[in-house]
Amino acid sequence: MIIAILNQKGGVGKTTLSINLAASLARSGARVLLIDADPQGSSLDWAAMRQETPLFPIVGLPRPTIHKEIAQIGKDYDHIVIDGPPRVTELARSAIMAADVILIPVQPSPYDVWAADEVVKLIQDAKIYKETLISFFVINRKITNTAIGRDVGEALAAYPIPILDAAITQRIIFAESAAQGKAVYEIDQTSFAANEIESLKDALLKETN
Ligand code: ADP
Ligand code: MG
Repeated sequence: MIIAILNQKGGVGKTTLSINLAASLARSGARVLLIDADPQGSSLDWAAMRQETPLFPIVGLPRPTIHKEIAQIGKDYDHIVIDGPPRVTELARSAIMAADVILIPVQPSPYDVWAADEVVKLIQDAKIYKETLISFFVINRKITNTAIGRDVGEALAAYPIPILDAAITQRIIFAESAAQGKAVYEIDQTSFAANEIESLKDALLKETN
């Protein structure tokens, strides 16, 4: 399965979710490749911080030819996670064309929901000729013990894209693990963060099997 994690807004958690989802899939025994489609190369930076053996390989591919190259690059893998670029529409479009499933991280604020407009439009355009394309919002940086919020729920409901039933909470361990080139489960496999990532993976596999 090819999973693209996209949102042209920066800082919403594309890289964080890409790395931890890839790690979670690899941990369960799948052969996983991460494609860093961001010209800034944040996933590659993460890998460079790492002291331990890699959990999965990462290739940098910040070119609008991902959809053409992916069959060749990804042929030996069960799952490919594409860490999407900010802004650049051509790259996002290429990632959408390459993907089976698109996850759109959004923070639970109305501003973030409105900022998803652009990627939602690109996905809707792609669905015209790619009817099998599946997409979900993933709420990231939810504040502990709060509901997602009525405003955000209503704003997201205006889009023709469902919310994945697995939100990720705002937790310091995500930043800590990133600085060490680790997945959250490697810092603490019993942590809430690691559990939420497992639930995200499970929800994704359930929706796509
Ligand atoms: P993007 O790739 O969309 O630009 P990042 O994954 O780089 O976003 O996340 C932006 C910043 O927010 C990073 O410093 C990251 O560690 C932090 N971050 C992302 N998700 C969470 C979370 N759930 N809890 C705490 N910090 C987070
Ligand atoms: Mg990023």
